Amino acid sequence: MVARVIPVEPFDLVVFGATGDLALRKIMPALCCRFADGQMPPDARVIGAARGTLGADAFREEVARALDEAFSGADAPSPGCRRAFLQLLDYVTLDARGDEGWPALRDALRGDVVRAFYFSVAPGLFGALAERLERWQLITPETRIVAEKPFGHDLASARELNAMLARHFDETQIYRIDHYLGKETVQNLMAVRFANILFEPLWNARFVDHVQITVAETMGIGGRAEYYRQTGAMRDMVQNHLMQLLCLIAMEPPHRFEPDAMRDEKLKVIRALDPVAPGDVVRGQYDAGDGAPSFAEELGDPGTMTESYVALRTGISNWRWKGTPFYLRTGKRLRRRVSEIAVTFRDPPHSIFGEDARWRENVLVIRLQPDEGMDLRVMIKEPGPGGMRLKDVALDMSFAEALGGDLRIPDAYERLIMDVIRGNQTLFMRSDEVEAAWAWTDPVIEGFEATDTPPAPYAPGSDGPAGAGDLLRRDGRQWREIG
Ligand code: NAP
Repeated sequence: MVARVIPVEPFDLVVFGATGDLALRKIMPALCCRFADGQMPPDARVIGAARGTLGADAFREEVARALDEAFSGADAPSPGCRRAFLQLLDYVTLDARGDEGWPALRDALRGDVVRAFYFSVAPGLFGALAERLERWQLITPETRIVAEKPFGHDLASARELNAMLARHFDETQIYRIDHYLGKETVQNLMAVRFANILFEPLWNARFVDHVQITVAETMGIGGRAEYYRQTGAMRDMVQNHLMQLLCLIAMEPPHRFEPDAMRDEKLKVIRALDPVAPGDVVRGQYDAGDGAPSFAEELGDPGTMTESYVALRTGISNWRWKGTPFYLRTGKRLRRRVSEIAVTFRDPPHSIFGEDARWRENVLVIRLQPDEGMDLRVMIKEPGPGGMRLKDVALDMSFAEALGGDLRIPDAYERLIMDVIRGNQTLFMRSDEVEAAWAWTDPVIEGFEATDTPPAPYAPGSDGPAGAGDLLRRDGRQWREIG
C-alpha cells in the first residue's frame, strides 16, 4: 500500500538548537523522510541555529552523520535523496541571549512563505528567543513557533511561560508539541472511537470495568541526569504523555476533528479528573543490576527522592466515566519497552454456560509500541467435543500487517512538523490544556515532597515496585504483564 502524500506550501523552518540531540536524532531524520516522500517542496529551507561556529557545510556533514545513524532499514531514504535533502539546509551561528547572528538570520529568511521557528532548546531560552524574534522583526502573520516539552515544571511556571509567549505570539501561532499525539496508533485511537459505531455504545462506566495506561521503558536515564533530577516520572511522563492518552480515551466525541473542538473536549476530561489520594499513588526507583548503576547512582545523589517510576489510580467525575478507575503507570528500566492502553470491559451480566465456565473479560488493547496495532480479546468455544469449554483469544491487528507489509509507519515528528507548516493545531496542546494538566499534577508532586518515605526500590528488568500491584489488587484487579 502506498501512503497518499499531499505536498505542503513552501516554507522556511528555523531550528534553534539544531546541533542538539533532539534536532539531530528526531527532527532532521523526520524532515528527510518527508522530503523523500515528496511532501516537502524542493524550495523548502531548513536553517539550523545554535552557538557553535559551524558554517553550512559542517552543519550538513553533522546532519548527514545523524541521518546515517537514524536510518538502517530498507525503507530509509536513498543516498541520493539524502544528499538532495542536505542541500536544503543552511546554518546560522547565534546565541539566543545575544545579538550577534540575528541580522544574518533575518537576511536568510524569505518574506512570502510560511515561517516556522522550532524551539529545540532548553525552555529557559524560550523567552530570550521570543523576545529577539520580535525585536529583529522576524514575526510575520505566517509565523509559527514550536515549543518542546517540558512546558513548565508546575502550574506557576507553565502560566509564566504561556504569558510570556502570549506577549509575542497569538495562541494560533504556538504549537506546544507532545510527540505522543503524532504517533499513528494514537491517531488511530481516534479513528477507532469516532469512525466506528461498534465501540461507542460500550464506551462508558456501565460497560468498561477499568482502563490501564502503561508506558514502560527499558532504558535508564542515561546522560540526562541533570534534567531528570529536577523532573521525575510524574512531571516527565504523566503530566503530558499519559495525560494525553487518557484524554483521547475518555473525551466526548468532538463535533469535528478540528483543533479547538478536539482541545475543548480534552480540557473537559482533565478538569473532571479526580484528585489522586495519597494512598492511590506508588513511586519507585530502579536498583543497580545487570552491570548497570542504580537510578540514585546515575543521578549522583544517594539520597534522591526523585522517582523513576510512578503508578496511580484516578477517576473521572462525569456522567460517562464515574465508577470506572483509570490506572496509569510509567517507569524506566522495566522489563520491556511497551506503551499500551488496555480497556477492560465488564463481565456479561449472566453466564448461560454455568458458574464454572472459565471466564475472561473482553479487553481492547491499543499498542503504541512495539508493533503498533490493536487486539481485542474475546471468548470463543474451545474446539472439539466434550461440552462447551470457553477460551479467550486475541483478534489481533498489527497495523503494519493490515496495511501491507511494506508500509513504513512514519515517526510522530514527521506528521507533527508537517502539521505545523500546514497550520493545523489539532495535535498540539493549547495553553489552558497544559495549565489544567499541571493543576491536576501539582498536588500529587506536592504530596511526594511532603513525605519522608523514599520511593520504593525495584529490580531492573522487573515490572516495577511490588506496591504498585496493591493499587489494583485491593480493587480485585491486576496489572497486565509488561511484556
Ligand atoms: P541538547 O542536546 O542539550 O541541545 C541543545 C541545543 O541548543 C544545542 O544545539 C545547543 O548548541 C543549543 N543551544 C544551547 N544554548 C544556546 C543558546 N544560548 N543559544 C542558541 N542555541 C543554544 O538538548 P536536546 O536534548 O536536543 O533538547 C532540546 C529541547 O528539547 C529541550 O527543551 C528538551 O527538554 C526537549 N526535548 C528533548 C528530547 C530528546 O530526546 N533529546 C525529547 C523531548 C524534548 P550550542 O551549545 O552550540 O549553542
